[in-house]
Amino acid sequence: MSGFYYVKSAKANIQCRARGLFRLEKNVPLVGDYVEYSDAGNNEGVITKIHPRRNKFVRPPLSNIDSMVIFASAAIPITDTYLIDRMIVIAEKSDCEPIICINKVDLNTADDLYAIYCKSGYKAVRISALTGEGLDDLINIITKKTCAFTGNSGVGKSSVLNAIDPDFNITVGDISKKLGRGRHTTRHVELFELKCKALVADTPGFSAFDTGHIAKKEELASLFRDFIPFLGKCRFLDCMHIKEPDCAIREALDNGNIQRSRYDSYLRLYKQEQDFKEWEHKTDA
Ligand code: GDP
Ligand code: ZN
Repeated sequence: MSGFYYVKSAKANIQCRARGLFRLEKNVPLVGDYVEYSDAGNNEGVITKIHPRRNKFVRPPLSNIDSMVIFASAAIPITDTYLIDRMIVIAEKSDCEPIICINKVDLNTADDLYAIYCKSGYKAVRISALTGEGLDDLINIITKKTCAFTGNSGVGKSSVLNAIDPDFNITVGDISKKLGRGRHTTRHVELFELKCKALVADTPGFSAFDTGHIAKKEELASLFRDFIPFLGKCRFLDCMHIKEPDCAIREALDNGNIQRSRYDSYLRLYKQEQDFKEWEHKTDA
């Protein structure tokens, strides 16, 4: 870490160090923080105060993210619904609005993918960076919001950024190099301001949100928006919706009120959280 933070003030970008106390308090500035700083002149200063955060992500180090724009595509590279659902859970856990942004609709209209997320109660848009279709819908959703763009590599995140803001001059395919794995020590994250006043953090891949443990397994179902209407309606109060009798979630699945891929993702995440816990116990012993 270089130890510098760049604070955008009304007048300029100020290169700041953080007050030493932050490190002691284990509360270092994150990209997205609203801060106060003391001005040392020459566009340099010291961050003196970090305002309370709406949410924070440790990896990548981001805060105050309003919307998680989850990129997907039904054209190559086809996005695995599990990766979308995992990102949704990460976003929901942090009170961050998930937006499913399906790109490359000029190649594949992704009807099934789009239907899954609309039926599950999520905001979804279909766009093409190539033809410009649907870009206005995306712009409307992110205007004046602080967003993180994430998605599998090659899904078109940088193409979309370039298409919605031609001044946003990043060569297609460059972002992941610039922000990505090459630099092991400096995890460089930056917020870009688009013309529509959206602040965008481009984070390299789904794997960038490498959170390991996401939520307690008992909490997972409540992070699936489509499950919520059925929660509390199972025969057993502590139903995990796996193979218990009279399970309202599995009934909803059978009736088509919960989408199969969503339920499959739930099972997979549940299993992971379960394994995680066992592994944790083993290292404790
Ligand atoms: P990133 O890794 O998510 O940033 O993806 P890129 O923006 O680098 O795009 C990967 C490839 O997909 C490039 O060859 C783009 O030209 C192509 N691409 C991006 N968006 C679209 C689209 O909407 N339609 C089509 N046909 N190709 C696209
Ligand atoms: Zn149940």
